[in-house]
Amino acid sequence: MVRLIFLGPPGAGKGTQAKVLADRCSVPHISTGDILRGAVAAETELGLKAKGFMDRGELVPDDLILDLVGSRLDNDDTTSGWILDGFPRNVSQAKFLDVLLEQINHQYDCVVNLDVPDEVIVSRLLERGRSDDNGEVIRHRLSVYREQTSPLIDFYRERQLLVSVDGNQPIDDVSAALEQIVAA
Ligand code: AMP
Repeated sequence: MVRLIFLGPPGAGKGTQAKVLADRCSVPHISTGDILRGAVAAETELGLKAKGFMDRGELVPDDLILDLVGSRLDNDDTTSGWILDGFPRNVSQAKFLDVLLEQINHQYDCVVNLDVPDEVIVSRLLERGRSDDNGEVIRHRLSVYREQTSPLIDFYRERQLLVSVDGNQPIDDVSAALEQIVAA
Protein backbone atom coordinates (compact mmCIF):
# COMPACT_ATOMS: atom_id res chain seq x y z
CA MET A 1 0.00 0.00 0.00
CA VAL A 2 1.44 3.32 -1.08
CA ARG A 3 -0.33 6.62 -0.51
CA LEU A 4 1.78 9.65 -1.14
CA ILE A 5 1.27 13.34 -1.78
CA PHE A 6 3.81 15.17 -3.94
CA LEU A 7 4.56 18.81 -3.24
CA GLY A 8 6.98 21.09 -4.99
CA PRO A 9 7.23 24.17 -7.16
CA PRO A 10 6.31 24.02 -10.84
CA GLY A 11 9.22 22.51 -12.74
CA ALA A 12 10.55 20.55 -9.74
CA GLY A 13 10.02 17.29 -11.63
CA LYS A 14 6.97 16.34 -9.59
CA GLY A 15 4.99 14.99 -12.52
CA THR A 16 7.86 12.93 -13.91
CA GLN A 17 8.83 11.48 -10.57
CA ALA A 18 5.27 10.85 -9.41
CA LYS A 19 4.59 8.91 -12.61
CA VAL A 20 7.75 6.80 -12.37
CA LEU A 21 7.05 5.94 -8.75
CA ALA A 22 3.38 5.19 -9.39
CA ASP A 23 4.33 2.80 -12.21
CA ARG A 24 6.89 1.11 -10.02
CA CYS A 25 4.42 0.71 -7.18
CA SER A 26 1.52 -0.19 -9.53
CA VAL A 27 -0.75 2.49 -8.13
CA PRO A 28 -2.56 5.25 -10.04
CA HIS A 29 -0.77 8.55 -10.60
CA ILE A 30 -3.43 11.16 -9.94
CA SER A 31 -2.40 14.52 -11.37
CA THR A 32 -4.97 17.29 -11.18
CA GLY A 33 -2.99 19.17 -13.87
CA ASP A 34 -3.29 16.16 -16.23
CA ILE A 35 -6.99 15.78 -15.48
CA LEU A 36 -7.55 19.48 -16.16
CA ARG A 37 -5.49 19.44 -19.38
CA GLY A 38 -7.57 16.44 -20.52
CA ALA A 39 -10.76 18.35 -19.77
CA VAL A 40 -9.49 21.40 -21.68
CA ALA A 41 -8.59 19.22 -24.69
CA ALA A 42 -11.99 17.50 -24.61
CA GLU A 43 -13.68 20.89 -24.21
CA THR A 44 -15.83 19.66 -21.34
CA GLU A 45 -17.65 22.13 -19.13
CA LEU A 46 -14.87 21.82 -16.55
CA GLY A 47 -12.24 22.33 -19.23
CA LEU A 48 -13.91 25.44 -20.59
CA LYS A 49 -14.15 26.92 -17.11
CA ALA A 50 -10.58 25.98 -16.16
CA LYS A 51 -8.75 27.02 -19.32
CA GLY A 52 -8.42 30.75 -18.65
CA PHE A 53 -7.04 30.22 -15.15
CA MET A 54 -4.50 27.68 -16.42
CA ASP A 55 -3.41 29.89 -19.32
CA ARG A 56 -2.78 32.73 -16.88
CA GLY A 57 -0.87 30.52 -14.43
CA GLU A 58 -3.49 30.89 -11.73
CA LEU A 59 -5.05 28.21 -9.62
CA VAL A 60 -8.36 26.92 -10.87
CA PRO A 61 -10.99 27.76 -8.20
CA ASP A 62 -11.43 25.16 -5.48
CA ASP A 63 -15.09 24.54 -6.32
CA LEU A 64 -14.03 23.14 -9.70
CA ILE A 65 -11.35 20.90 -8.20
CA LEU A 66 -12.64 19.44 -4.96
CA ASP A 67 -15.40 17.18 -6.30
CA LEU A 68 -13.14 16.00 -9.07
CA VAL A 69 -10.48 14.87 -6.57
CA GLY A 70 -13.10 13.38 -4.27
CA SER A 71 -14.57 11.13 -6.93
CA ARG A 72 -11.15 10.25 -8.39
CA LEU A 73 -9.80 9.08 -5.02
CA ASP A 74 -12.93 7.06 -4.39
CA ASN A 75 -12.49 5.18 -7.67
CA ASP A 76 -12.09 1.38 -7.59
CA ASP A 77 -8.47 1.53 -8.78
CA THR A 78 -7.28 3.26 -5.61
CA THR A 79 -7.65 0.30 -3.27
CA SER A 80 -3.93 -0.53 -3.53
CA GLY A 81 -2.95 3.12 -3.10
CA TRP A 82 -2.33 6.30 -5.05
CA ILE A 83 0.15 9.04 -5.70
CA LEU A 84 -1.32 12.51 -5.71
CA ASP A 85 0.49 15.11 -7.81
CA GLY A 86 -0.56 18.76 -7.91
CA PHE A 87 -3.18 18.51 -5.19
CA PRO A 88 -3.45 20.04 -2.64
CA ARG A 89 -2.29 23.44 -3.94
CA ASN A 90 -3.44 25.59 -1.03
CA VAL A 91 -4.33 25.22 2.63
CA SER A 92 -8.08 24.96 2.06
CA GLN A 93 -7.53 22.08 -0.40
CA ALA A 94 -5.29 20.38 2.18
CA LYS A 95 -7.98 20.68 4.84
CA PHE A 96 -10.59 19.35 2.41
CA LEU A 97 -8.29 16.41 1.62
CA ASP A 98 -7.91 15.53 5.30
CA VAL A 99 -11.69 15.40 5.73
CA LEU A 100 -12.17 13.47 2.49
CA LEU A 101 -9.55 10.86 3.34
CA GLU A 102 -11.05 10.33 6.74
CA GLN A 103 -14.45 9.81 5.13
CA ILE A 104 -13.17 7.19 2.70
CA ASN A 105 -10.86 5.73 5.34
CA HIS A 106 -7.57 6.31 3.52
CA GLN A 107 -4.48 7.27 5.54
CA TYR A 108 -1.53 8.59 3.60
CA ASP A 109 2.05 7.68 4.36
CA CYS A 110 3.74 11.04 3.97
CA VAL A 111 4.06 14.19 1.90
CA VAL A 112 7.11 14.38 -0.33
CA ASN A 113 8.50 17.84 -0.94
CA LEU A 114 10.74 18.05 -3.99
CA ASP A 115 13.23 20.80 -3.25
CA VAL A 116 14.67 22.71 -6.21
CA PRO A 117 16.31 26.18 -6.20
CA ASP A 118 14.43 28.96 -8.01
CA GLU A 119 16.98 29.55 -10.77
CA VAL A 120 16.91 25.89 -11.75
CA ILE A 121 13.12 25.92 -11.87
CA VAL A 122 12.85 28.81 -14.28
CA SER A 123 15.33 27.33 -16.74
CA ARG A 124 13.63 23.91 -16.56
CA LEU A 125 10.22 25.44 -17.21
CA LEU A 126 11.48 27.41 -20.18
CA GLU A 127 12.95 24.21 -21.65
CA ARG A 128 9.71 22.26 -21.14
CA GLY A 129 7.81 24.52 -23.54
CA ARG A 130 4.28 23.66 -22.38
CA SER A 131 1.65 26.20 -23.47
CA ASP A 132 1.54 27.68 -19.94
CA ASP A 133 5.36 27.83 -19.78
CA ASN A 134 6.18 31.21 -21.29
CA GLY A 135 8.21 33.78 -19.34
CA GLU A 136 5.47 35.91 -17.86
CA VAL A 137 3.17 33.00 -17.01
CA ILE A 138 6.10 31.16 -15.40
CA ARG A 139 6.79 34.10 -13.13
CA HIS A 140 3.15 34.27 -12.19
CA ARG A 141 2.94 30.53 -11.50
CA LEU A 142 5.98 30.81 -9.24
CA SER A 143 4.46 33.67 -7.29
CA VAL A 144 1.17 31.73 -6.97
CA TYR A 145 3.23 28.78 -5.74
CA ARG A 146 5.03 30.92 -3.16
CA GLU A 147 1.90 32.60 -1.88
CA GLN A 148 -0.63 29.79 -1.95
CA THR A 149 1.14 26.43 -2.17
CA SER A 150 4.40 26.80 -0.24
CA PRO A 151 2.56 27.35 3.10
CA LEU A 152 1.70 23.65 2.79
CA ILE A 153 5.33 22.83 3.55
CA ASP A 154 4.88 24.11 7.10
CA PHE A 155 1.34 22.76 7.27
CA TYR A 156 2.62 19.21 6.76
CA ARG A 157 5.90 19.74 8.62
CA GLU A 158 3.94 20.66 11.74
CA ARG A 159 2.01 17.43 11.36
CA GLN A 160 5.34 15.59 11.04
CA LEU A 161 4.33 14.22 7.68
CA LEU A 162 6.84 16.05 5.49
CA VAL A 163 9.79 14.33 3.84
CA SER A 164 12.06 16.56 1.74
CA VAL A 165 13.94 15.20 -1.25
CA ASP A 166 16.65 17.07 -3.15
CA GLY A 167 15.11 17.49 -6.59
CA ASN A 168 18.24 19.14 -7.97
CA GLN A 169 20.08 15.91 -8.81
CA PRO A 170 19.96 13.55 -11.78
CA ILE A 171 16.48 12.14 -12.42
CA ASP A 172 17.53 8.58 -11.54
CA ASP A 173 18.98 9.70 -8.21
CA VAL A 174 15.74 11.47 -7.32
CA SER A 175 13.81 8.32 -8.27
CA ALA A 176 16.12 6.20 -6.10
CA ALA A 177 15.63 8.54 -3.13
CA LEU A 178 11.86 8.28 -3.57
CA GLU A 179 11.96 4.51 -3.75
CA GLN A 180 13.84 4.43 -0.46
CA ILE A 181 11.11 6.50 1.14
CA VAL A 182 8.45 4.13 -0.12
CA ALA A 183 10.44 1.11 1.04
CA ALA A 184 11.01 2.54 4.54
P1 AMP B 1 0.32 21.24 -13.04
O1 AMP B 1 0.34 20.29 -14.20
O2 AMP B 1 0.17 20.53 -11.70
O3 AMP B 1 1.48 22.20 -13.06
O4 AMP B 1 -1.00 22.12 -13.18
C1 AMP B 1 -1.20 22.96 -14.31
C2 AMP B 1 -2.26 24.01 -13.98
O5 AMP B 1 -3.50 23.36 -13.64
C3 AMP B 1 -1.93 24.89 -12.78
O6 AMP B 1 -1.14 26.00 -13.13
C4 AMP B 1 -3.33 25.32 -12.33
O7 AMP B 1 -3.87 26.32 -13.18
C5 AMP B 1 -4.14 24.05 -12.58
N1 AMP B 1 -4.18 23.16 -11.39
C6 AMP B 1 -3.63 21.94 -11.27
N2 AMP B 1 -3.87 21.42 -10.07
C7 AMP B 1 -4.61 22.34 -9.40
C8 AMP B 1 -5.18 22.40 -8.10
N3 AMP B 1 -5.02 21.41 -7.20
N4 AMP B 1 -5.88 23.52 -7.76
C9 AMP B 1 -6.05 24.53 -8.63
N5 AMP B 1 -5.53 24.54 -9.86
C10 AMP B 1 -4.81 23.46 -10.26
